[in-house]
Amino acid sequence: MSAVMKNKPAARGTADWQAADAAHYLHPFTDFKALAAKGTRIVTKGDNIYLWDSEGHKILDAMSGLWCVNVGYGRQELIDAATAQLKQLAFYNSFFQTATPPAIELAELLAQVSPPQFQHVFFSGSGSEGNDTIVRMVRRYWELMGQPERTVIISRHNAYHGSTMAGASLGGMWGMHAQGGLPIPGIVHIEQPCWFELGQAMSRDDFGLKAAGWLEQKILEVGADKVAAFIGEPVQGAGGVIVPPPTYWPEVQRICDQHGVLVVSDEVICGFGRTGQWFGCETFGFTPDLMTFAKGVSSGYVPLGGVLVGERVAKVLVEQGGEFHHGYTYSGHPVACAVALANIRLLQRERIVERVREELGPYLAKQFERLAEHPLVGEAQSCGMMGALQLVRNKASSEAFDPSLEVGMVCRGHCFGNGLIMRAVGDRMIVAPPLVMTIAQIDEMVALIHRCLDLTLADVKQRGWM
Ligand code: PMP
Repeated sequence: MSAVMKNKPAARGTADWQAADAAHYLHPFTDFKALAAKGTRIVTKGDNIYLWDSEGHKILDAMSGLWCVNVGYGRQELIDAATAQLKQLAFYNSFFQTATPPAIELAELLAQVSPPQFQHVFFSGSGSEGNDTIVRMVRRYWELMGQPERTVIISRHNAYHGSTMAGASLGGMWGMHAQGGLPIPGIVHIEQPCWFELGQAMSRDDFGLKAAGWLEQKILEVGADKVAAFIGEPVQGAGGVIVPPPTYWPEVQRICDQHGVLVVSDEVICGFGRTGQWFGCETFGFTPDLMTFAKGVSSGYVPLGGVLVGERVAKVLVEQGGEFHHGYTYSGHPVACAVALANIRLLQRERIVERVREELGPYLAKQFERLAEHPLVGEAQSCGMMGALQLVRNKASSEAFDPSLEVGMVCRGHCFGNGLIMRAVGDRMIVAPPLVMTIAQIDEMVALIHRCLDLTLADVKQRGWM
């Protein structure tokens, strides 16, 4: 049997792929048993904002792969950059006092496109690894500053910072913590700035100040002399595209400044144009000391992540000397860096970030305002090219559905059935489409969303849930 499988020609059908998948492939964040019973969807091709599955269905990818294929599928510039670098030098490391031209050039370009305090970069292979670097680096910084007791990092409930031990610990997903004895020591959490869940009794602006106040309370509770850093996503992505009130981040910045706490912006989703600026911190008006990035840096064509290190931290790390005992085989991988260079130059040449800010983001916001009128939608939020629709049982009172009904998954099922990839986070439906969409493609996406909301509504009523 296995000899037959090994010699099998390329043309395999869906059932065959599914059988092999169930037999051998353990997927991330998956109930293996349930998926094996249901059968995996096999995605075989991508072009622009569309995907095709092994059955030939065309799908509009409103999640950009996994918040990453920001320039769309099949861009020749990125393919050419990878091919040329693979031929020139497929790999060399940056460990032993060496470097490769693409890694140096990308570090230089990242310093140009990021806010002025960022002149240095540390590369990783992913966002999770980038956040592991953050934990190591902020603790190293405080040690060099002569305050080694400053080790605690404050994060937020419902944040997502990756799935390594440190990344999952920084994240505020209790389900992840429950498996594996997390968080690791020295990481504590405060509530998220989610107005819909926690602030409806007050104005959004007042709630933003209140939510930032939770950070100050936590700093005082832990003791400012023990707090190393605060980390947050400008907009919580995987938590459900939770767009904070405009008052939130400036107040967080003020509090951190007052207590000397480092500010870390996890820009893995928000970076490289998603919010209409190069980085989310620019949209929300704060000046972080460190930024994690991944995903959009290479538009997901190859794995790449890292940490942009602001001058406050870089100055100490560089000037004080002494080895930083940390790094990855693929830190500064030349092929990944070559693709990222091509990707960033493409963003610049096509003025994609400006287009998100001036045209696409405002247009999407208008369409989401319309979707907010749908009887199933309790709240619609958007920021640049990402958006969320909170499904509710009672629009007037914002009453939620019983979570065990999994209405979000019902809606997601209709999306899949109608050629649209939209993600469900509980009963919050989210999109983060490629940044290269046309207005007509946004219309196409919104029409599909509308249809899927109607189908979900009919379904939910028929089941007697509403
Ligand atoms: N931080 C944020 C904000 C993320 O959204 C993600 C991934 N969704 C990560 C970190 C982890 O990145 P990776 O999956 O590349 O490790």
